[in-house]
Parts: sequence; C-alpha cells; structure tokens
Amino acid sequence: MSDSPTDPDDYDLKALLEAQRAYFRLGSTRSVDFRKERLVGLENELVKRSDDLLAALASDLGKPALEAYVSEVFFSIAELRLVVKKLSRWAKPKRVGNPFYYWPARSEIRHEPYGNTLIVAPWNYPIQLSLSPLIAAVAAGNTVVLKPSELAPASSAILADIIKAVFNPQHVAVVEGGAELGKTLLEQSFDYWFYTGSERVGRLYGEAAAKCLAPITLELGGKCPVVVAGDAPIEATVERIMTTKFFNAGQTCIAPDFVLVPSHQHKAFVEAAKAALESAFAEDPRENLAHIVNEDHYDRIRSLIPLEAIRIGQDNPEERFLAPTLIPYSTWESPAMQEEIFGPVLPIIPYHDIDEEIERLSRMPSPLALYVFSKQNDFLEAVAAAVPSGSICFNDVIKQATNLELPFGGVGASGMGRYRGKAGYEAFSYERAVTKRWFCKDPFLVKPPYGDRLEKLRKLMK
Ligand code: NAD
Repeated sequence: MSDSPTDPDDYDLKALLEAQRAYFRLGSTRSVDFRKERLVGLENELVKRSDDLLAALASDLGKPALEAYVSEVFFSIAELRLVVKKLSRWAKPKRVGNPFYYWPARSEIRHEPYGNTLIVAPWNYPIQLSLSPLIAAVAAGNTVVLKPSELAPASSAILADIIKAVFNPQHVAVVEGGAELGKTLLEQSFDYWFYTGSERVGRLYGEAAAKCLAPITLELGGKCPVVVAGDAPIEATVERIMTTKFFNAGQTCIAPDFVLVPSHQHKAFVEAAKAALESAFAEDPRENLAHIVNEDHYDRIRSLIPLEAIRIGQDNPEERFLAPTLIPYSTWESPAMQEEIFGPVLPIIPYHDIDEEIERLSRMPSPLALYVFSKQNDFLEAVAAAVPSGSICFNDVIKQATNLELPFGGVGASGMGRYRGKAGYEAFSYERAVTKRWFCKDPFLVKPPYGDRLEKLRKLMK
C-alpha cells in the first residue's frame, strides 16, 4: 500500500465528501477545457509511470508484462485519448425541435454531471477497471472517490500516487482499504455509484444507492458460455478461445467460462485445445501465465479440478501458480459448472442436442458475455435471440468488450448500466431537458375561459 491510510477510521470521509461537494458547487468541473486538461495530465502520468504500473501488476498478479501493458496501461491511455478527442463534441448541447404551440421557443438536451461519485473497483484488472470509470466520471464533470481493491495492493498504491499527482483531492481522491472501508463508504451519500465486483457485494452497493435515491452502475460477473456449432472450423475456433481464456489466468469477467461442443467433434476439439495450451505454456509457463490473486481463490479454483483433467505443467501453491487446465468431459453437474470459475480452468461439455442446450442457457442467469461459433448466420442470431447477455461476440471471444466504440455492461444477474468511451460519459451524466422562450405574445395559450377552444383545437388536429 502507499503511505495513504488504509483503516476506515483514518479517513475523514465526511470531510472529504463535504470538500468535494463544495468544489463541485464552485463550478470548476463545468468547464470542458478543464476536464480535458486534467485527463491529459492523467495520460502523461500513466505514460511516465508505465514501468511502475507493470511492476505493480507483476507483484499483485504475476501478470506477464505484455498482458499488463495491453489490457491495463495501453487500454487506459487509448480511452483517455479517445475521450479527450471527442469530449467537446459529446458535451455540446443537442438542439431538438419544439411543438408548434410553444413557438417561439428553443429546446436542447444538455449533459450534466451528477456531482460527487463513488467508484469501487475489483482486483483482476485493478488499473483499467479503476481508471475507465474514473475517466468517464471526470469527463462528465463529476468529483470522484475511488476505492481500488485491497487484493491488488501494489496497484492500489500506485493508483493513489498517480491520482494524487494529477488531481486535487477535492476533485478526485483515492481511498485505500478493504471491506471495512467499503462498509463505511456504504454509509455515505453519493450522487452516482459505480461498482465492479461480485454479485454478493454488488447488492450491498445497490441497496446503499437506493437509500440515497441515486443511480448506480453495477458491473458484475457470472458464467460466460461458449457455444460451438457443428459447422465451426475447429482449429480457428480453438485458437481464439484458448488465447483469450488464459489471458490473466482466466481471471477476466468476460472470459469464456465453459464450452459446449458437439459430441462428434469433442475429441478433435479437446486435442486441438491441448495442443494450443502446450504450444503456449509448455516452456516458461510462469513467464506467460498470471498467478491467482490470493490463497483463497487458489484453493477455491483448485478444488474445482477433477482427477481426469488435462493439465499443462505443475501447480505451485507458494506462488499461487495454477497450471492451465482443461476438463474434457465436463457435465452440467460438475463442480466447475456450479459457480463462476474465474481461473485458468476450462470445462468442455459435449452435447447431442443443441436446442436442449440453448434452452438450458436461456434459463440460466444472464451472462456478461455470450460467445457463439458457427458459419450459419441464422444459427448465430437464433442463439442471440434465445439467450440474453450483456454483450455477444460471434466467432471470437472478448473482442466486443475491448472496442471502445461499444458500450460495456451486463444485464440481469451480470449487472446494469453501460460504460466505456461515449457510453461512460453518458453513464456519468444525466440528460437535462432545457427549453427557452421569449417574451412575446403567446399565440396558443391554454388559459380560461376556454369557450369553444376545444372544438377549434379538434378541428386543427384533424
Ligand atoms: P468483490 O466483490 O470481492 O470486491 C469488489 C470491491 O468491493 C472491492 O473494492 C472490495 O474491497 C469491495 N468490498 C468487498 N466486500 C465489501 C463489503 N462487505 N462492503 C463494501 N465493499 C466491499 O469482487 P472481486 O473479487 O474484486 O471481483 C470478482 C468479481 O467481479 C467476479 O464475479 C467478476 O466476474 C466480477 N467482475 C466484473 C467485472 C465487470 O466489468 N462486469 C469486471 C471485473 C470483475
């Protein structure tokens, strides 16, 4: 951790929030130029501290440097650049028409900041999942309290340093700590809440936001299915699933959680998957695969692996390194199918009747992402129609969630609300309806005595 306090009692949250509210009322954050200037400052700091960020991610999660750079540092910088480039356009009030009976009038929609916002982040992409909502909140003109996850302490500490270097704490402040600090945050009042993490804790934030009658974005998890149809080319399908499933050792909310494969292609699929893992991890597995975040998660994931699993290399509990694993003959009853895996373990379920499987998926909690592989567009669309999900990617995995032009978020059990790029700016602002009129005679005033005006109006509307 940084030298910031980590005990909830060490933070005077009330005073911090008062200071942020006063700062917001002063109006500094209303200037789009000011917001852009702060975001450029953040970009410069990220570029400057890029190596420190990679070191923090290696210390917290053993993230291979390339994975850390692509998914955390580069991704955040790319989002900053996009937002700075487009912010003036997004922030421009949008003129809309007026009913003729209000003439003369001018109406427009303005995006307004909510005020003071809270962002609570998880540990799996501790930089990106803290900064992406933070960028959106600042772009929209809010003040921010960010609580990173205590399970990625080095990342939390460097985030605190970076934010301190760029922002006045009355504008953006990082508070470091775990569940105890989280509980204290739940007792405060925020104008907008943004939470990423587990469903269980997400409910607590949902209740706290409801108590303030404030909106909330909930970015939750769940089991993301992969459906492979009989006509999907095995080699390309396996290559795409394997590459992304094991990124960050499977500790990705939109990672493929399990794969449904037609039984006649099951053997070929498993062989190709095993070969892909061997080619990726047989040499230097520790250099190429992240570690599990802590002992609890390590033991939890380890307990889901059956004896007959295919494992590439050796586990190392001291380093919380779990060998990449396939469960080739998984069933819906397997332990790994009873919860979100969130680790380098992939169950493969052979199926006979695709309609039955789709029916089952449609009754499961809605996942954050759904992946379908087929050459038949009708099949792809039929699965999309039957199984609701926050996002969907046809014939690949995760690509839909790394495109800053697309909104990101869940539905049902996987969350609510959207962010990233423009969607983030929109999430952290509300649309204010504005009408201006002039002091001239009102031609269509609805004012007693009404006399025969109803009849005249009816004729006019014919
Ligand atoms: P978590 O719920 O344990 O922690 C998330 C945050 O909540 C942390 O900052 C933590 O300190 C805080 N917290 C924990 N207990 C609390 C309490 N009692 N009161 C107040 N705050 C508390 O989640 P996690 O383990 O960090 O994340 C894993 C989950 O998050 C997985 O289910 C994953 O799918 C999901 N996830 C979703 C997304 C997404 O974008 N939808 C992204 C990453 C992770």
